[in-house]
Amino acid sequence: MAVQWLLVCHGLVTLLVVVSFLCGNWPIFQGTFVQRIHFFLAFGAYDYFRRVIDFVFGARGTGALASVEYFCCDRPNPILQILYLGIIGGTYYIIVKSSFSYIPGYYLSEIHRYTSLLAVAVGIILFLLTSFSDPGTVNIENVSQYLSAYPYDNIIFFEKDCSTCKIPRPARSKHCSVCKRCVARFDHHCGWMNNCIGEKNTRYFMAFLFWHFIICIYGVVAIVLLLAGRMKELQVIHILTVYYGIDNSFRGLAPHVAQVKCLSLSYHSFVLIGIF
Ligand SMILES: [Zn+2]
Ligand SMILES: [Zn+2]
Repeated sequence: MAVQWLLVCHGLVTLLVVVSFLCGNWPIFQGTFVQRIHFFLAFGAYDYFRRVIDFVFGARGTGALASVEYFCCDRPNPILQILYLGIIGGTYYIIVKSSFSYIPGYYLSEIHRYTSLLAVAVGIILFLLTSFSDPGTVNIENVSQYLSAYPYDNIIFFEKDCSTCKIPRPARSKHCSVCKRCVARFDHHCGWMNNCIGEKNTRYFMAFLFWHFIICIYGVVAIVLLLAGRMKELQVIHILTVYYGIDNSFRGLAPHVAQVKCLSLSYHSFVLIGIF
């Protein structure tokens, strides 16, 4: 029982941290402790860290921290690309290790061994296409083409030169301060892709986002079906309904999720991956 309470508390704290970090600045949380947690997580914590570095290492420490900050946030670097590959590769590795022995199962056919690999492979291909394609760099050779393709409307976009590249800045283009170049139909600089998202790679980026949305849904449905299949195979539902006299309906069984889980041995990794 104590362990279950600990898990509930852990879940609530995690939920509070995630909600505060993502939504703490929303008007409905103004003046509440949720907003205070948001400011602490978004700014305060790093500020305290900087002060600790200053206190312990002095000016040399803060100087080193500033250059790390510059490298991580203001210059192109592959940190988030490596993190993405680690997340998708690591998660798939855990799934292969923990659940492939149950595929084929009661509800999942053998084909999911291959379709899951295909889903991940397509995701990585879209990631590579977005990361390593030209977003539509504007330079002295192609600027006239972009100027005629995107005329100025004199409402939002006025005739203007880029002060860094010293070339006319076509409408809807923007100078990326991280990559130090002008990009046509600029959307944003994506740290995960280590590339700008612009005219020529927006389609890959949108396909990447859509595909990962599909992968998430596919993963959750597959894990739920896998767990349901295991329970069916282990006859947990049968034990609960026949021996414990619990109504054999979703409504009747739902309050006994914990018991279902305990009786069906231990599938914590599946549940965690499902939530993730
Ligand atoms: Zn520029
Ligand atoms: Zn950029």
